[in-house]
Amino acid sequence: MKRVLVVGAGIHGLVTAVREHIKKNQVFIVEKRKRIGGRGTSEESFGHQLEHGPHLLLKGGVLHRMVKKVSKIKPSLMPLRPNKIRIIGHGMLLPLNSPKKMLNLKMEKDPVRERAMRLISGWGQDIPERRRALLKGRLCVVGEGWSGLIGRLASTLEEVGVPIQTGVKITDRYEGGVITSKGLKIEADEVHMCDGSPVGKPVKVATLDVVLDNKPLKGLHGIIKEDVAILDLAAIHPKKAPGMSHFSCISLSGGIPAIEALLDERVSGWRSHIITKRENKSITLTDSRGKLSDGVI
Ligand SMILES: Cc1cc2nc3c(=O)[nH]c(=O)nc-3n(C[C@H](O)[C@H](O)[C@H](O)COP(=O)(O)OP(=O)(O)OC[C@H]3O[C@@H](n4cnc5c(N)ncnc54)[C@H](O)[C@@H]3O)c2cc1C
Repeated sequence: MKRVLVVGAGIHGLVTAVREHIKKNQVFIVEKRKRIGGRGTSEESFGHQLEHGPHLLLKGGVLHRMVKKVSKIKPSLMPLRPNKIRIIGHGMLLPLNSPKKMLNLKMEKDPVRERAMRLISGWGQDIPERRRALLKGRLCVVGEGWSGLIGRLASTLEEVGVPIQTGVKITDRYEGGVITSKGLKIEADEVHMCDGSPVGKPVKVATLDVVLDNKPLKGLHGIIKEDVAILDLAAIHPKKAPGMSHFSCISLSGGIPAIEALLDERVSGWRSHIITKRENKSITLTDSRGKLSDGVI
């Protein structure tokens, strides 16, 4: 049995800890913040869970399988439907009622839809597995939010006795352990750095999550314009803000102003219907290996 220290209690850290526990190692986790979950978690505001931008779980992917393995109750997932996403000025992302457009899309001769597919399936990253999943209805909104997935992993670790120490920042490593910001040494036979640091140049995006007291998109799952996407989570999953809209928006370039400009253009008066909102002017999209979580774990 090895003493394994996991640094960081985001998705990567929690999954790594579960894996190390399964290998029968003695695992412990340290997290610099007061809260666990990292970028995969949400914040409660006025009874709504607001995440860091849109998160779609790959149904049947590694993260989904692990969450199912550790919990008795399956997470409730609802698929994003590409035939319910409108590309402004071009019709639906999946133009089911136009055989000609469908053929062009299949032959990869529709650059606008190609770009929109890449935006929605990988937030601008080219991830063929997630692109296929989008077309097959396997990219899903999680009813309980990603904080629910984090909670499931964390309670499993608690049940099996893996401690998570929050408020401890690791600043250095040495042969045989790590050093905290307070100069304390923590010994370990093996250290897993799951601190979310991107490899190479980080991919930064802007996000806005906003709940409105009306339903201006009238059942559409989302709208896209260039590299801005607005998804209505409440139209996709009935557990999210019933009777309202829960817009989760992302902009690959142009920041929050680009998102607000699209909302102003397409959802007139949205500002006077806001119940709550959360924005990130700049957040790193990918995980420590330069992928989305589904690609890592
Ligand atoms: C807008 C957006 C949309 C996304 N959509 C999807 C999606 O649809 N599907 C998908 O699979 N993924 C998606 N992702 C990616 C996903 O959120 C991340 O890949 C995942 O949350 C990264 O997890 P992580 O554990 O690697 O890093 P993080 O979540 O960043 O966690 C790292 C943790 O380590 C802690 N830490 C850092 N340094 C230290 C230190 N020195 N000492 C102690 N603790 C430390 C941090 O506080 C943090 O809690 C999206 C990300 C964004 C921003």
